[in-house]
Amino acid sequence: MSDTLNGKVALVTGASSGIGEATALALSAEGARVAVGARRADRLESLAGKAPGEVLALDLDVADQESVRAAVARTVERFGALDVLVNNAGVMLSGPIVGADTTEWTRMVETNLLGSMYTVHAALPYLLESKGTILQISSTSGRIASANSGVYAATKFGITAFSESLRQEVTAHGVRVVVIEPGFVATELATHITDPTMQAAAQQLATSMRTLQPEDIANAVVYAVTRPEHVAVNEILIRPTDQTR
Ligand code: NDP
Repeated sequence: MSDTLNGKVALVTGASSGIGEATALALSAEGARVAVGARRADRLESLAGKAPGEVLALDLDVADQESVRAAVARTVERFGALDVLVNNAGVMLSGPIVGADTTEWTRMVETNLLGSMYTVHAALPYLLESKGTILQISSTSGRIASANSGVYAATKFGITAFSESLRQEVTAHGVRVVVIEPGFVATELATHITDPTMQAAAQQLATSMRTLQPEDIANAVVYAVTRPEHVAVNEILIRPTDQTR
């Protein structure tokens, strides 16, 4: 356990698995007190049991503004401040546009884009007070759109646009905004895809390369957060070496 984030308070959304879980553990290992939010409470409890420092498990649905506001309020009530927001919750329901089940589009937009925006909105007053850092988990799909991921890519392009506006509004107040754009990371993200062809393609892709691990992204978050206060790392794009585009 290190002490680079001693006294700091972090909130990580989508912390019940994958990148969010690894990031919460990494921030805890650096000495931060960490609030972790997601819908699967059992997974959050087991994360809290593994973390080296103090962890607050929060029942959170980012698509529900009330739930987001309550999670931010409970974090500040418990820990007294908020210094780091890792805006990570997301779903990827890949598939072609033609014939798509548009309820999946709604879910992606409500979770990835609106959910992330609601979380910034609720947390911003506290982050302005602490001169904190906001980490927006986007994707390489927020840079390059591909066939069969149009809506997912649209949500991630949206996060990038929102983050740049946000950065321009808050940087003079000492709040840093960091967009993180991972390539293929080995998590359960693709297991929620309902289209069997897309599901098979994702599995094939995973076996075709040395994928990133969630800890690789967690390390990038820790890197950005632990720079000196006058250094704003605004964007980090990380692909597996074996990923071509
Ligand atoms: P996981 O599926 O492992 O994690 C997704 C997390 O989001 C889970 O903790 C899930 O928790 C949470 N989540 C989903 N919906 C909601 C919701 N409505 N409210 C609150 N939490 C929610 O996948 P990853 O770790 O891979 O994904 C994390 C982020 O990283 C996502 O934004 C994803 O787009 C991004 N990303 C992932 C890449 C990859 O290759 N894996 C590449 C680029 C970006 P629960 O279901 O318990 O609510």
